[in-house]
Amino acid sequence: MMMKAIHELAHLRADIAIARQKGKKIVLVPTMGALHDGHLSLIDIAKQYGDYIIVTIFVNKTQFDNPDDFAKYPRTVADDMAMLAPYDIDIVYNPDHDMMYPDNFATVMALPDLANDFCGAGRPKHFDGVAIIVSKLFNQTTPDVAIFGEKDFQQLTIIRQLTKDLDFNINIIGAPTIRADNGLALSSRNRRLSDDELAIAPLLHQALCDAPKKLKQGQDWQSIREDALCFLQSQGFGDVEYFALCDAVTLQRLSQPTNSDMRILTAVHLGNVRLIDNIAVIL
Ligand code: AMP
Repeated sequence: MMMKAIHELAHLRADIAIARQKGKKIVLVPTMGALHDGHLSLIDIAKQYGDYIIVTIFVNKTQFDNPDDFAKYPRTVADDMAMLAPYDIDIVYNPDHDMMYPDNFATVMALPDLANDFCGAGRPKHFDGVAIIVSKLFNQTTPDVAIFGEKDFQQLTIIRQLTKDLDFNINIIGAPTIRADNGLALSSRNRRLSDDELAIAPLLHQALCDAPKKLKQGQDWQSIREDALCFLQSQGFGDVEYFALCDAVTLQRLSQPTNSDMRILTAVHLGNVRLIDNIAVIL
């Protein structure tokens, strides 16, 4: 089966209709391109869930609060296609901005309880844009299963909620974060880190790994958090937007550990790049 690059929605729908007639199980892997091994791991997982794989590449303007970040977001479609070629994917869907958002586009979406803190506080309207594009891609591709990375943990939580709220009949699968050997979570934005910054960046994962260990030893969360902030600052990181312990399901901030599943979420600036990462806390 040849991988097909598709730009037009009508074309996409026609091909999907044929796949459906053949009884194929459709799995969607949405991306913004500038692909790395993290994205490729989602494709490996997709193949465990179905036999018709659609990868989308679309840099979604509505989820960028900062025009400069949107302008600088890496766009490497030719390289992306070459990376995907060996993966036996059915469709790479790469729609145009104007087709996705015609001038008279009028709908807004918001999930304030999940979206206003953490990345939503630093990037207002970011998750409104995510919710819209994911809903559109769900309607356009009608997948049985969709794969999203735990790397973007708040995003994954929001997508699970909107899928439930809007009755999308789609199984949402969360995929583990793929890291470099030094622990740095792979991200398209890492391409914008200088060599010096690349040497520092893995320390964010180290700070994240240390925190659950200290919680297990009974140390108080506020002091763990302050230690982590001091450590990051001393190593050369810039502004720490948040370094928070939260409930893994509701994303409510916690001032001390509970018996429920927990997660530590963080966003930190390094040079001109904003890094996010998170870790599960199992006591
Ligand atoms: P993006 O292209 O950054 O929008 O990411 C597309 C998908 O890949 C999202 O579901 C991300 O959570 C996921 N992703 C990004 N980085 C990683 C990673 N290092 N490991 C696993 N999944 C990732």
